[in-house]
Amino acid sequence: MDYVNIPHVVAMAGLPARGKTYIAMKLARYLNWVGLPTKGESGQHHVHSDCVTFLRFTCGVWDLSSLLASLHTMHKATVHINTKCWRLTRKKKWIKFTFAASDHTKLSTTSVPRYLDKKGEHQKSLRPFSVNVNCDVLCAVFNVGDYRRQAIGDYQGHDFFHPRNREGNNVRNKCALDALQDVCEFLQTGGMVAVYDATNTTIERRQLIHHVICERMGYKLFFIESLCNDPSIIETNIMECKVTNPDYTNMEKEDAVKDFLKRIEHYRLFYEALDEEKESKYSFMKIFDAGRRVVVHKQEGHIESRIAYYLMNIHITPRSIYLTRHGESHYNQLGRIGGDTDLSYRGRQYANALAKFITEQKIANLRVWTSCMKRTMQTASGIEAPQERWKALNEIDAGICEGLMYEEIQEQYPEEFAARDQNKYSYRYLSLPRRSRRWGGAHGVEATGDVLVVGHQAVLRCVLAYFLDKTGVELPYLKVPLHTIIKLTPQAYGCKVEFFKIPIDCVDTHRSKPVAFVSSLETKKWVL
Ligand code: ATP
Repeated sequence: MDYVNIPHVVAMAGLPARGKTYIAMKLARYLNWVGLPTKGESGQHHVHSDCVTFLRFTCGVWDLSSLLASLHTMHKATVHINTKCWRLTRKKKWIKFTFAASDHTKLSTTSVPRYLDKKGEHQKSLRPFSVNVNCDVLCAVFNVGDYRRQAIGDYQGHDFFHPRNREGNNVRNKCALDALQDVCEFLQTGGMVAVYDATNTTIERRQLIHHVICERMGYKLFFIESLCNDPSIIETNIMECKVTNPDYTNMEKEDAVKDFLKRIEHYRLFYEALDEEKESKYSFMKIFDAGRRVVVHKQEGHIESRIAYYLMNIHITPRSIYLTRHGESHYNQLGRIGGDTDLSYRGRQYANALAKFITEQKIANLRVWTSCMKRTMQTASGIEAPQERWKALNEIDAGICEGLMYEEIQEQYPEEFAARDQNKYSYRYLSLPRRSRRWGGAHGVEATGDVLVVGHQAVLRCVLAYFLDKTGVELPYLKVPLHTIIKLTPQAYGCKVEFFKIPIDCVDTHRSKPVAFVSSLETKKWVL
């Protein structure tokens, strides 16, 4: 059975400071980024899927419904997006799209659910949750801790979490249920995967989740439990993430640590680890001691297998990721795109400087990855470390525009040129996350230790966007200059980034977004 189009809930489980939020956030970013086959990819409904996807990664599904609602008030508004246009008509709870080519020939019709509140008014979610918007698979994280913070305001100390604190229990139960309801609404309105980030401490609670998600809603459910008894990992987690958590902004570090440890003890009083026998009907994954061992049980279908594969590959060992483009090439000097030319004289100087820089870093087990193009292999040639070549790291093929200058493309292929400017991500970059899925791409980089990737502008933008959590709109304009080494150091909830400019002259190949094409959709700051 193919589960790709059935919405999924990934429910976390585990005591506090076991990395649940860390796993949830990484997973959401991965799913949003990599994408999974959608209707559009099968070729069946290509036209609408394209448009809807474009809107989704431009504004997110909630804003899509907000956009639809405001367009609806304009009644049958026709909107031009990405050289196609669509019309709206109203049909109860569904909004009907009619897609048409720019010459107004009707192409196809589809419907998407509207997000309405009980009175039938358009409603924007006021509850806290985060959504990544540059995606094929719309995935959101619902963190119950955030609901609790919003419900009670100021933090009230560890007693609030004691199992005998009735008021605390009531508030926490309500927050958990509110979040679960939002999970369902999110999936009803176009979301594909919801990560329900809570301790989900007891068999009874997990049973309730199963009842709501599987029996009532008919969705798929996958539990991920993080178990960790390594005191050094827990201590680091508390110091890195908990004392800086909004709960402890007004508390001294030492007091915050003490309070958090007591909080864990309260949870321990009633925590029931996922029982492989009693709960054997569920699909689940257990992660022990930050990935030292994993157990995967009854995992089914494409989404769950990708989740399990991804989580088996992430790790929390400290490491650095170095990214650099090849040294300046002959085509760079001539202002031509694509091709497979050698390095220029200045490019060769950069290759030498790069080798010196890397030697100075004294990285014991560095791996070097290059594309299969001459300019990257020449750039890495002086580095003394094991090297691997990846065809999937090759620059995007510019097709008929290979070897041309931007002015020549504009002159010879004006429509192509304009389409690219209008939405560079879908025009030029959309294939890259998919390509990187096959290769391991950003996720291959994720799985490895210290690594230097010698690549190309577009491919490195994708790696950067993955690690720095950039949207599809921002991605094509990220600055990845020649003769510059970018060092990424993954941290608890993000990534430190440093740029090392090597003082060897080179051309500037960055091209900013033309102002005329910055559409109102993209400039509007959507509040999710
Ligand atoms: P809480 O229930 O208080 O929200 P939590 O379980 O969500 O806690 P996180 O806030 O996610 O815990 O903890 C983050 C820390 O956990 C990071 O420092 C990260 O390196 C670490 N971490 C990530 N994965 C794991 C894992 N599988 N086991 C233990 N720690 C992990």
